[in-house]
Amino acid sequence: MPRNPQPKFESWGRYPRLHANVVPLSWTTDFPLAKPPATKLLPVGAGRSYGDVCLLDGGTLLKTRGMDRLLHFDPQTGILCCEAGVTLAEILDFAVPRGFFLPVSPGTKYVTVGGAIANDIHGKNHHVAGTFGCHVPRFELVRSDGARFVCSATENADWFSATIGGMGLTGLISWAEIRLRPIVSRAIQYRGTKFIGIDEFVALSQASAQPVYTVAWIDCAATGNNFARGIYMQGDHSSMPGELTPSKRPWLTLPLDLPEFALNRFSVSLFNTLYYNKQRAKEKTGLVDYEPFFYPLDSLLQWNRMYGKSGLLQFQCVLPWEADHQMGIVKILKAITASGLASFLAVLKVFGDVPSPGMMSFPAPGITLALDFPIRTEVSFDLLDRLARITQEHGGRMYPAKDARMTAEEFQSFYPQWQAFARYIDPAFSSAFWERVTARG
Ligand SMILES: Cc1cc2nc3c(=O)[nH]c(=O)nc-3n(C[C@H](O)[C@H](O)[C@H](O)COP(=O)(O)OP(=O)(O)OC[C@H]3O[C@@H](n4cnc5c(N)ncnc54)[C@H](O)[C@@H]3O)c2cc1C
Repeated sequence: MPRNPQPKFESWGRYPRLHANVVPLSWTTDFPLAKPPATKLLPVGAGRSYGDVCLLDGGTLLKTRGMDRLLHFDPQTGILCCEAGVTLAEILDFAVPRGFFLPVSPGTKYVTVGGAIANDIHGKNHHVAGTFGCHVPRFELVRSDGARFVCSATENADWFSATIGGMGLTGLISWAEIRLRPIVSRAIQYRGTKFIGIDEFVALSQASAQPVYTVAWIDCAATGNNFARGIYMQGDHSSMPGELTPSKRPWLTLPLDLPEFALNRFSVSLFNTLYYNKQRAKEKTGLVDYEPFFYPLDSLLQWNRMYGKSGLLQFQCVLPWEADHQMGIVKILKAITASGLASFLAVLKVFGDVPSPGMMSFPAPGITLALDFPIRTEVSFDLLDRLARITQEHGGRMYPAKDARMTAEEFQSFYPQWQAFARYIDPAFSSAFWERVTARG
C-alpha cells in the first residue's frame, strides 16, 4: 500500500487520527471553494470536538482560526458581528470589560464561533436560554460553488435551520452575529448542594426559582450507599457592580502524555472522593469568579494529555422526560461502574424546552449525562456500545460533537430527520463522522 503523504489530524479526544490536507483561511484569502476541489472539504474551527465530526479522512480541512476579526459591536442591542474563527475566549476578552457576556457557553472557551454554531452547542443555562443558535440572529454561508448568502430566521430560513447544528456540512460560515447579554461584574453568585442519587438530583433541578446556570458533577466511581452522589452547582451573574477586567492567560500546560496506567479506577475514585468532600457542608454559597465556574478545565492547557497517547472517548446522551429517564441514567451509571473504566469528568444536567432553530440540534427536554473514558482497547468500545444501546432503549439520543463510535443505525434512529437535512449538504463537503453514520451496512 502506498503511504498516504497527508499529515494526520486528531480532535480533542485524540481518536481517531486521520489523514487530511489543511488550508488555512483568513479574511483576505479567497476561499478555495469556487473551483471544483480535488478532495472533499470540511471547515474546522479549534478542533475542540471530541470525535470525528471535525475530521475528514483523505480530505481537505478548511482551518478557520485565521478568520479572527471582530467586525462590529452595537452596545445598545448587545449584537456582536465577528468572523467565524473568533474564539469565545476572544469574545469574552472584548465583551467583559464592556459589561457583556456570552449568551451560552460550553465547558471550554477555546471554541470558535463557527464550531459553536455548527454543533449548536449548549451550556449550563440551557433550561432558560436554549442553545447557542438561539442567540445568532444572522450569519453568512459560503458554498463550494462560490455562492454566498446571508441566513437568518427570515432570509434563507431553511439554510439557517440546516446550518445551525449542521456539523459543518452545509458550507462554510464566514461571519456571524451573536446577541451578548449584559453583566455588571465578573462574579457569579454560587450555590453548591451535595446530593446522593438521581432522585435527589431531579428534585433539586425541579425546585422552583432555578437560577440561570445549573449543572451537577457526579461521581461515577461511587457504589453502594454513595451511588450517584454529586454536587449540584447553581449560579447567576452577580447583580452587585464589580470588576469587569479581562481574564489572565492560563500559564499551566500539561507538558507530556501521562502513562496510561495513571488514570485508573483507584486514582479516579480517590480524586472523586476528595472532590466530593472538598465541600464539607451539604450546602455552600458565595461569590466566585466566572472563569473557574464556567471553565474549570481551561486553566490547564492540553489537559487531554492526561489520558495518555491512546486518547479518550466522550459520551453524551439526553434521555427525554417521557421515557423512564431516571431508570435509564441509573442503568448507564451502573454499566460504567461495572466496566471498571474511570471517569472523573462526569456531568449531569437538565435540558429545558426552549426550541432550537437548528434542524439537527442535539438537546431535547430531559436529562443529559456527559462523561470521558480513557481508551482501553475493547473495554471502552464495548462500554460505549452498551451505553448507546441503553440510550436507544430509553428513547434518547447522543451528541455528534462528542462521538467517535455511534453506528449508522443508531444515528439514523436518534436523528430521523437526517435525510431531510442531507438535502442541504454541500456536494463538495463531508466529514468522517457523516461518512460513518450514513454508511450502508
Ligand atoms: C473541555 C470541553 C468542554 C466542552 N463542553 C461542552 C458543553 O458544555 N456543551 C457543548 O455543547 N459542547 C461542549 N464541548 C464541545 C465543543 O463545544 C464543540 O465540539 C464545539 O463545536 C467545538 O468548536 P470548535 O471551534 O473547536 O470546532 P471544531 O471541533 O473544529 O468543529 C466542530 C464542527 O464545526 C464545524 N465548523 C467549524 N467551523 C465552521 C465554520 N466556520 N463553518 C461551518 N462549520 C464549521 C466543523 O466542520 C465541525 O463539524 C466541549 C469540548 C471540550 C473540549
